[in-house]
Amino acid sequence: MSAFPESAAGPREALARQMREGRLPHALILEGPADSGKTGLAMELARAAVCLSEGEKPCGRCAGCVKALAGSHPDITVLNGDDDARAFPVDAVRKIRSDAYIRPNEAPSRVFVLLGAHNMPEAPQNALLKVLEEPPEHVVFILTAVSAASLLPTVRSRAQVVSLEGSGAAENADPGLTARFAAAVTAKNEADLLFLTGELIGDREKFRAVLAQMERIFRDAAVLRCGGTTCLSGQREAAQPLAAALTRERLMRLPGEIKKAGRALEHNANAALLATALCAALREAAGR
Ligand SMILES: [Zn+2]
Repeated sequence: MSAFPESAAGPREALARQMREGRLPHALILEGPADSGKTGLAMELARAAVCLSEGEKPCGRCAGCVKALAGSHPDITVLNGDDDARAFPVDAVRKIRSDAYIRPNEAPSRVFVLLGAHNMPEAPQNALLKVLEEPPEHVVFILTAVSAASLLPTVRSRAQVVSLEGSGAAENADPGLTARFAAAVTAKNEADLLFLTGELIGDREKFRAVLAQMERIFRDAAVLRCGGTTCLSGQREAAQPLAAALTRERLMRLPGEIKKAGRALEHNANAALLATALCAALREAAGR
């Protein structure tokens, strides 16, 4: 259970709860601007849908999570139309439609992630509609779009639409600072990290931005460590050394520590105390 009251939860948190409890709908559309984190969330949801854990999903440790993080899970299909509008040929969508009726190989669900679905032409959308109308029990569709309004109303009406705000937080982080921050987590000298967080104490916006970007970098490092290649942070050079220095288990703990600090910051925790606690938690998680 979350330590924070329900009223504090936005759509993202509500979805996170559904995800943890394994109650994802058959079709989801995550809509929001480029900086809303919808792609990262879509992939996280996909991992949750193939997680084999009895507890919170995604656990990050089971065989399903490990394969999903490595981008090699046989029950997750991703079409990425964010950069390429030609990512959705009708044939590919028809293939998805027929695959949807095959039982998953090893996960509880078969997941289809269609990124940048606002770029999907009408014909493949219509092809998709057939399976959205009566989705097989074991199937989850996760679509992302800048706006759900760019999809056919018939597609839209068969999915749960989740609107995400563009926080811009991670994008506002100074990449030089976050790169030094990432390096300091595993540095020989503990003081390096404390010194850097000193820069954040007087500026909560900056603190929030650095936390948001650090979470992405840590996730990227875990993905790289597992043999994946996707870097959502755009700071591969910061994630790579972490992936080389730490075990997968240690890397998986880092985003959680950042999340905890982020929540405390939103709840007006004392920034200086928070920074000190965060340093200790990150160093501990990193085994330093
Ligand atoms: Zn798992």
